[in-house]
Amino acid sequence: MKKILQDYSRAELETLVTRFGEKKFRAEQIYLGLMQGKRISELPVSPALRTALSEQFEDEPVRILKTFVSSDGTKKYLFALADGNLVEGVLMAYQYGNTQCVSTQVGCRMGCAFCASTLNGLVRNLTAGEILCQILCVNRAEGGSLKTRAVHNVVLMGSGEPLDNYEHVIKFLRNLTAEGGICISARNVSLSTCGIVPKIYDLAEEGIPLNLTISLHATDDEARKRIMPVAKAYSVAEILKACAYYFEKTKRRYIFEYSLIDGENCDQAHALALCALLKGKPCHVNLIRLNEVKERSLSSVGEKQAYRFLGILEKNGLSATLRRQMGADIGGACGQLRASYLDGSVK
Ligand code: SAH
Repeated sequence: MKKILQDYSRAELETLVTRFGEKKFRAEQIYLGLMQGKRISELPVSPALRTALSEQFEDEPVRILKTFVSSDGTKKYLFALADGNLVEGVLMAYQYGNTQCVSTQVGCRMGCAFCASTLNGLVRNLTAGEILCQILCVNRAEGGSLKTRAVHNVVLMGSGEPLDNYEHVIKFLRNLTAEGGICISARNVSLSTCGIVPKIYDLAEEGIPLNLTISLHATDDEARKRIMPVAKAYSVAEILKACAYYFEKTKRRYIFEYSLIDGENCDQAHALALCALLKGKPCHVNLIRLNEVKERSLSSVGEKQAYRFLGILEKNGLSATLRRQMGADIGGACGQLRASYLDGSVK
């Protein structure tokens, strides 16, 4: 595979163009073109420079292969990478702007029992540029520019575990938030992790004030181990300690995701245990009704039961919401679309 030009920061591009015997200002032209979602062959530079760059770098590292539009307006994208691998992403319209969900790995090795991304394990990490390109090409496809963006918020909640691809994800975050580029503020970015504790401490030191989101799904370690193998490595207590550290460093409230799985984690006793665990902490709980994955035997709960669970949290003073289900008709859950495309059930 060729290298990926969108991995480079603006400063790194300056060094690169001088190696190509070009003046530094060319870096700015290249950078602005790339940030607008252009391919190398479309960059506003000389044909000779375009050819020279194309010899070493992928012309189009990420391409929208398919777009699916849900009846609620949510768009789901299937992206093709230059090596033929596929990842997926979603664009959701909220009152406060459009939120894009991006993938950080092809597949995933975390093995969560409810998740479609991990069905065939990890294929490979995405590079910083491949993560960024998902946003650049959706912004372009949606008619956005650098001045008037079509993507306002970003969530790292597509396929992959972001903290299992730490270096590339940090580089991506720096390039995403850099002045003069697509420039999405870290405050509008949420990173979701299954709870790789040492990396949460590392993230707290990076000085990137993003919203940290933890996939909790169970309050006691034994129950959590049944649905999330990562719980064998890190306990809930260790996760909470790391979150407290993250708050101390960034002053950012953290968020817990809790997917309601029938017969597993959604009785009154589970709700009360969640209240006891999180009471008084600077956090928010996002309840999700499980998106049923056909390869998995777990089922979702009804709306009534979900609201009952939410009611218990609220009555006990927790800040909590039930996430609106969006795009359920187009394979909204992590990895569902790629899995369906690969097995031939979606064309
Ligand atoms: N690897 C990261 C990001 C992944 S997905 C993480 O684990 O946080 C974002 C959220 O969707 C996670 O909370 C994940 O546990 C949850 N999720 C995955 N599959 C799901 C499904 N089928 N239904 C509901 N939530 C799901």
